[in-house]
Amino acid sequence: MKNLILLALVASATPVAPPLPANVERALAEVRANELKGDLSFLASDVLQGRFTPSPGLEVAAEFIASKFRAAGLEPGGDHDYFQMAEMVDRRLPTMTANLTLYSGDRTFLVPAGDLAVEATSQAAHLDRVPVVFFATKDPALLKGADMRGKALVSVEADARNLSGEQVRAERRRARAFDQAAALSGALLSLTVLHNKRTVFGPPHLLFMEQATASRTPMLVAPSEELAKFIAEASHEAATISVDIPAPFDNKVIVKNVIGVLRGTDPALAKTAVLLTAHYDHIGTVETAGQMSMQAAGDSLDRIYNGANDDGSGTVSVIEVARALSKIEPRPKRSIVFMTFFGEERGELGSQFYGKHPVFPIAQTVADLNLEQVGRTDSTTGRQLSNATVTGFDYSDVTTFLTRAGERVGIKVYRDAQGSDEYFTRSDNDALAEQGVPAHTICVAFDYPDYHGLGDEWPKIDYDNMAKVDRMVLLALLDLANTEKEPQWNAQNPKTEHFRAARAASQGGK
Ligand SMILES: [Zn+2]
Repeated sequence: MKNLILLALVASATPVAPPLPANVERALAEVRANELKGDLSFLASDVLQGRFTPSPGLEVAAEFIASKFRAAGLEPGGDHDYFQMAEMVDRRLPTMTANLTLYSGDRTFLVPAGDLAVEATSQAAHLDRVPVVFFATKDPALLKGADMRGKALVSVEADARNLSGEQVRAERRRARAFDQAAALSGALLSLTVLHNKRTVFGPPHLLFMEQATASRTPMLVAPSEELAKFIAEASHEAATISVDIPAPFDNKVIVKNVIGVLRGTDPALAKTAVLLTAHYDHIGTVETAGQMSMQAAGDSLDRIYNGANDDGSGTVSVIEVARALSKIEPRPKRSIVFMTFFGEERGELGSQFYGKHPVFPIAQTVADLNLEQVGRTDSTTGRQLSNATVTGFDYSDVTTFLTRAGERVGIKVYRDAQGSDEYFTRSDNDALAEQGVPAHTICVAFDYPDYHGLGDEWPKIDYDNMAKVDRMVLLALLDLANTEKEPQWNAQNPKTEHFRAARAASQGGK
């Protein structure tokens, strides 16, 4: 009889997951909505002035996060206690004041100063009839190992108008590699001819970058169909170029990623790490955001972009999951690295800095869960209760860990048809993915009424829902930290080819 009942149960019921160990249940219960609210009401308060990179408000935020990691008893993971110091240059690029002239045979082509934008330069440059090398496409292979000292490069950017989103991204990657190769080649100038105007023609162009990577080769762009045609038609024997580029204005600053470590316990696996990340910066005030062309000034009395949801919500979630997990006994097998980045709003700079200067070797970093906008449930696409989406949903099996964890705590993890692939490159997971680490961003609402608006304030957050999402994150993180087999990029998806290649390279062809 007994046996029969058992058999019937096995046959009829969908498999029920065994109960969670008591230590895990305790850690889950430690995630509290009120802690999240307390932390966020400070981080997103006006006192921090919108946490612009760089700014005193950002510094206060970094100290606050470090104090929380300290209180949780995490190991400091930076080069200075919990801080990974990044020496950066805040650079105001010059506006062109003189025309550029291209000479080819008996023809000349003049580009007016107003149609030229400086994309990079670390000094003033004066070029007088410098020999030109033309490139019909921005193919980095054409520049590999080339010595272009004493020469100017003129290349034509791919016409993006008839390309798919994926092709545009691939072209952008190629163009970036080309520009890097151009800088390495020692060229005196790299001029890119565009088919249409990009955003570079806004008010004062600002760059924020790592000092060591500041290119010495001036980079100019010119949107000009006529010039593209001229380049295609002219015979380019003995072509030369003349141009004057003013010096930029540089301000050297130090900014910080904040890193705390929960050391793993398995003798072999403790050397490997899972990352939980979020960016703690935002766009500052009406003044700083306006300078960056991030927002129009408007005439509101409120001058502060508090960034409660973007990405104060992710930041306090990292803090809270760290606090809840820090007491767990026994500790997970792999190490868990809790990290908040500077400079996401200025081009994912903090995560890129980490990608280049990892505290844990990239090859041993098994996954990154990055949190963005996990607090607001009033998405522009409708209310988002008890669910969360993952960018690059079918790029790796990290999603399986999240889905499984979500089922445990009542969070439905779904694929956002629009956002899944589009937003994959629009947050800090991208910098880790570029290095080959399976890295995804978890988000509740990609778009919401106050996105990059003055009204993104802490009282509008749904703290109970955020706590629930954080419990899913905690479970997935633990699962990733305890599993023997590390997550893999999905080889069936051609969009992961680039990331798989990077993974193979970092792990020595493994
Ligand atoms: Zn963000």
